Amino acid sequence: MAAVTPVVNLDLTGRTALVTGAGSGIGRACARRLAAAGAAVLALDRDKAAAEAVAAETGGQAVALDLADPDAPHQVAAEVDVLVNNAGFQHVSAVEQFPPERFAGLHQVMVHAPFLLIRRVLPHMYARGWGRIVNISSVHGLRASPYKSGYVSAKHALEGLSKTVALEAAPHGVTCNCVNPAYVRTALVENQIADQAATHGIAPDEVVERIMLARAAVKRLVEPEEVAELVAYLCTPPASFITGSAITMDGGWTAH
Ligand code: NAD
Repeated sequence: MAAVTPVVNLDLTGRTALVTGAGSGIGRACARRLAAAGAAVLALDRDKAAAEAVAAETGGQAVALDLADPDAPHQVAAEVDVLVNNAGFQHVSAVEQFPPERFAGLHQVMVHAPFLLIRRVLPHMYARGWGRIVNISSVHGLRASPYKSGYVSAKHALEGLSKTVALEAAPHGVTCNCVNPAYVRTALVENQIADQAATHGIAPDEVVERIMLARAAVKRLVEPEEVAELVAYLCTPPASFITGSAITMDGGWTAH
């Protein structure tokens, strides 16, 4: 397993954690972190090889499914104690050119699939009287940016879903929260740099400094392991009072 330096003291022995989009970036870091805490990890990704690689290094199980398929969540094990809804992607385009099927696809993967997965695993969590749902939202769940109508609207919807589930699940010992990072150093961001450069008509190396870091007071990208550590904290006993929250890790972006 790749080096993990756990900061938060967390023991998930005997718990099963399902992480979507576990093959790369934040999802992979969460899978590693939760496995390091003792959880049996279900690494779900549409990229079968990536899911298998993460499953192999964490001693978990690969779940090769594409969450763009509305039937996929029904094929996942329902006996899950920690659910990390992380799978997502980006599309950068002006609203008037935004392909409607791309807009629907963003909502399918980033809102409908989390809803279906939450719906599937809650009965098991309720039966055990304990559960943790962490939705990897974004600063774009709280703030908009131009050219990201599909992503921003999907993440805002995820925030509403998360808060509603938090209210319903609280009496059962289940918390549900969003984590809201600014730009994280992952493939999703690397791919976006070229798209943003073309859309804004600037050089790729200017994108990070002039666009991605413009609103953050801390002028660096977030590391996936930092997000995973926050996810781990939300699974600890002292975090049982944190629910229905949107926890920013945005270098001060939303302080504006
Ligand atoms: P990434 O591209 O590195 O990883 C995303 C993973 O999700 C990939 O392994 C991909 O195969 C998988 N995936 C995508 N669509 C899928 C589908 N339909 N079914 C199953 N798996 C699918 O991206 P990342 O940066 O780690 O992003 C993960 C999450 O974090 C996303 O929800 C993203 O919106 C959110 N986020 C990212 C950033 C950032 O700056 N990178 C910032 C805030 C929030």
